[in-house]
Amino acid sequence: MSTVAAAIRDAAARLSATSDTARLDAEVLMAHALGITRSDLLLRHMADPAPAGFAALVDRRARHEPVAYITGKQDFFGLTLAVDARCLIPRGDSECVVEAALAAAPAAASVLDCGTGSGALLLALLANLPDAQGIGVDASADALHVAQANADALGLADRVRLLRRDWTQSGWAADLGRFDLIIANPPYIAHAAPLDASVRDFEPAAALFAGPEGLDDYRVLIPQLPALLNSGGAAVLEIGAAQANAVSALANAAGFAVQCRPDLAGRPRALVLGQS
Ligand code: GLN
Repeated sequence: MSTVAAAIRDAAARLSATSDTARLDAEVLMAHALGITRSDLLLRHMADPAPAGFAALVDRRARHEPVAYITGKQDFFGLTLAVDARCLIPRGDSECVVEAALAAAPAAASVLDCGTGSGALLLALLANLPDAQGIGVDASADALHVAQANADALGLADRVRLLRRDWTQSGWAADLGRFDLIIANPPYIAHAAPLDASVRDFEPAAALFAGPEGLDDYRVLIPQLPALLNSGGAAVLEIGAAQANAVSALANAAGFAVQCRPDLAGRPRALVLGQS
C-alpha cells in the first residue's frame, strides 16, 4: 500500500508530461480525493495510505482535463467558485480586471458583466462592494446555471440578475438601462492560435474564440458601450496580451480614453475605458 506522499510523487512525475504545475496538480487532486484542504494534506496526511480514488483523478489529468473541472472548483479573488465544463475556468490573470473595476467603481455601483460565464468577475466585485448590484449576461444558458449556483452559494443572489443575452443580436440590451460600470472578459483568442490541449479540448469554444484575430467580440461590443454607461461611468475589459493597441484603437474610436493594467506576469491584460 503506497502512502499519500509516494502517490503524490509518482503522480507528479507522470503529470510532468502534461502539466507545467505537475506537483501542485497532484497535491490538489490528492486533497480532493481525501476531501481535505491542501494545507491539511501537506501538514498532517502525507504518511497516510493513499486513497483508492486518486489514480482515476490522475488518469483524467494525464488526459489533459483541467484540474478545476476534475475537482469542480476554482479559487478566484478570495472566492471559491464551482466550475465545470459549461463555463470557462476563472484565471488568476483575470483578477487584475476586478482590481481595476474596484478602483473605478462608486460604492453603490450598478454593474453589467458581459459574458459572465461562472460569474467570477461580477461575484468578486459584488463580494467586495456591499452596496453594489449587478446584471450578468451570457449567450450560454449552461454558463448562466453555473453563475446562478455560485451567486446562491456565495449569498450574493439578492444583488445579482443573470440574463441570457447575446450582444451580437440587435436590441439585446434595450431593456437593461445604464450602468456605472461595465466589465467583460469576452472571447478573444484567434481561431488558429496554438492552445494547450487542456484549454482547447475541454473549455467551451464559445468562451474562447473570436474570429481570425480574436477581435470580433470587441468590435461588436465596444461601440455599444457608450449607450450603456451612465455619465462618468467606466468599462473594464480583459484583453489578450498582444491586443492592447488594437482594442485601445476600437475604444478611442468609440470616444473613450484608455488605460492599460498588467496581469500577474506583467503582460497587458485589462483596459480601463473612461469617458474622455
Ligand atoms: N485567458 C484565456 C486563455 O488564455 C482566454 C479567455 C478569453 O478568451 N476570454 O485561455
